[in-house]
Amino acid sequence: MKIAIETLGCKLNQAETEALQRQFVRAGFEPVQHPAEADVYILNTCTVTHTADAKARHLLRMARRQNPDIFIIATGCYAQRAAAEITAIAGVDCVVDNSEKSNLLQILSNIPSKTHTPIGKIAASAPFRTRSFLKIQDGCQNFCGYCIVPFVRSSETSVPPGSIIDEIRQRTNEGYQEVVLTGTRVGGYAFEGLDLTGLLQRILDQTKIPGVRLSSLQPQEISPELIKLWRNSRLCPHFHLSLQSGSTTVLNRMNRRYTPDEYRKAVQLIRKEVPGVAITTDVIVGFPGETDTEFEASLEFCKQMGFARIHVFSYSPRSGTAAAKMAGQVADKVKKERSRKMLALAEESANKFRESFAGEALDVLWEKQTDDGDWTGMTGNYIRVYAKSKDDLGNKKSKIKIQ
Ligand code: SF4
Repeated sequence: MKIAIETLGCKLNQAETEALQRQFVRAGFEPVQHPAEADVYILNTCTVTHTADAKARHLLRMARRQNPDIFIIATGCYAQRAAAEITAIAGVDCVVDNSEKSNLLQILSNIPSKTHTPIGKIAASAPFRTRSFLKIQDGCQNFCGYCIVPFVRSSETSVPPGSIIDEIRQRTNEGYQEVVLTGTRVGGYAFEGLDLTGLLQRILDQTKIPGVRLSSLQPQEISPELIKLWRNSRLCPHFHLSLQSGSTTVLNRMNRRYTPDEYRKAVQLIRKEVPGVAITTDVIVGFPGETDTEFEASLEFCKQMGFARIHVFSYSPRSGTAAAKMAGQVADKVKKERSRKMLALAEESANKFRESFAGEALDVLWEKQTDDGDWTGMTGNYIRVYAKSKDDLGNKKSKIKIQ
């Protein structure tokens, strides 16, 4: 049987999709890119914004249009939040909660056959990628005002360190060059007294994986002990540090647990210890009650931070969250204009960051060839680079001079 799995949303979802793909391949499924070629299609959905929901509906409908006989499963955060809404989409055969996502293989084998043959034999190998996403933690109970995640993910749990080490060793043996450790709140990792610092130290000591990257942290999770680990060059010089707003009052209304000043101190500490580091972030514009002055403060703060990349989100009310009920919802026209300004800054800031490495030699993990025959890959500090080479660079690391 052929299976196509697609993912929307965050790196945690990507890690879960990767784990699913591994399970299905081991059970004999052949992974394919497009629903049109598949017997089974799984969409791992996201519900962080209205746009994420709309994308999921679009992909599910398109899969059915492209392949009337395919068996369609929707899972992930949107499926968890609005199962009835998704079930009503013509053509979705099965909706599976986040909590049951890891049992999808089992669930599928218990569903009476519609178009598919029984699950087959173990497959020898599968075409995986250069960089592997690994889930180490799930759930968040912070209840930030805008966020639907605590309602659609479990309470906080962490994967035992032994399992994480085994998984990383396995992926190293498969030829992976880098693992990205993901979770809803990676900085909240806690297993029998072991925190994220302890876990990273164990990974460095007990595995040979050449590169380790973290998906996302919050400023209050940055400590001198944690950052000292980056003296080991196997930890990629890249921190995704969620900001959400650079205004003290907006952060307060969001129920974030830091001030812009604390955020600045975390960034200063990282930059002092990790030369050439990329600091990327997420920013929400148009949070309820956000005044022009608060937005300008946020914009100015982002400018000062010199981010390597800013993901800009227009605030999108999610029913059930505190912010959805707040007074002072910002008009769409205003959100659009603020988003335009923040995106312009994001572009300027990213260009400045990239240009600051011109002439320097950086390590690159090469991924694949583009349609034009150039090789493309990422530096440790998250700069996408392109090069011409007659050699096969796929999944290799090399140092190149950036132009
Ligand atoms: S920390 Fe806040 S934004 Fe992040 S998942 Fe938890 S509630 Fe959502």
